[in-house]
Amino acid sequence: MISFRSTKDDTVILLEDLRKAIERNEITLLYQPIVSMQERNTVGFEALVRWQHPRLGTLMPTDFVPIAERSGLINQISIHVLNKATADFADLIRKTERDLFVSVNISSRELLRHDIVQDIDLALKNCGLDASRLRIEVTESMVMDNPEHSTQILKRIKDLGVGISLDDFGTGYSSLSYLLRFAFDTIKIDKSFVQARSQHERLVVLRSIIALAHSLDQSIIAEGIEYESDVTDLLQLGCEFAQGYFFGEPMKTSDALKMVMDEAAAQKA
Ligand code: C2E
Ligand code: CA
Ligand code: CA
Repeated sequence: MISFRSTKDDTVILLEDLRKAIERNEITLLYQPIVSMQERNTVGFEALVRWQHPRLGTLMPTDFVPIAERSGLINQISIHVLNKATADFADLIRKTERDLFVSVNISSRELLRHDIVQDIDLALKNCGLDASRLRIEVTESMVMDNPEHSTQILKRIKDLGVGISLDDFGTGYSSLSYLLRFAFDTIKIDKSFVQARSQHERLVVLRSIIALAHSLDQSIIAEGIEYESDVTDLLQLGCEFAQGYFFGEPMKTSDALKMVMDEAAAQKA
């Protein structure tokens, strides 16, 4: 019997539990707002997966995504996440009449699977969400693991009209030339740079990443914004979009809907 340890409380979880979790609808999504710092309004959300375990409560992605990747169950989880996120946003956009986007994380293993392009296309068609409203987040190291193949798959995803975001930018050790080879639409600056040890270090690093992204015509989302001072610094450096606890923690669909509706009401007032 295959089992793994949850980092939450060192409890042994059976792989069989994870298999059943998908059927039992225990794999859920929270959405964290991504905002335009200048306008102070929500432009989209990132979908973040959770496992509502019947005994252990809410498990974080670090508790189960690695084992899902090793066991191959990540395939089913990814399809579930894609279907749920696109359906939720087709609904949210209909209700709010706002051009929001939803950003979905995919695993490196998924990027090696040719069917992923078809799965994304199908998820969009099933709920009628426009491809331009979906973004796929990949990390630098994922692309670098197999640059030729990843580039090919990413191009096919992009051809569907879906945006591609480069997640956790700066944490990998990739060669810049590979990064330049693929035209990412958005670069997400990892929170470790926003939360850097010294103000000097932070400004130097952020300034160069933002200049690089802008020269490539890519938009930038800074992650891990927790304080108003982060907003001030980033705006000054020319970064337009941000995500972090300062603007909102990952929330349920109903709260995301309420947030967008409240924003619209405040703008009208
Ligand atoms: P990530 O893609 O870098 O996601 C951002 C993480 O930062 C999230 O953690 C989010 O809750 C957290 N975060 C957001 N704002 C702040 C902030 O202001 N301060 C701090 N300290 N943290 C903040 P979470 O939800 O635990 O997700 C962890 C990672 O799990 C994600 O990192 C992503 O790599 C992975 N993940 C999440 N959902 C999925 C999924 O559906 N599929 C796959 N394959 N991976 C996923
Ligand atoms: Ca992400
Ligand atoms: Ca990230």
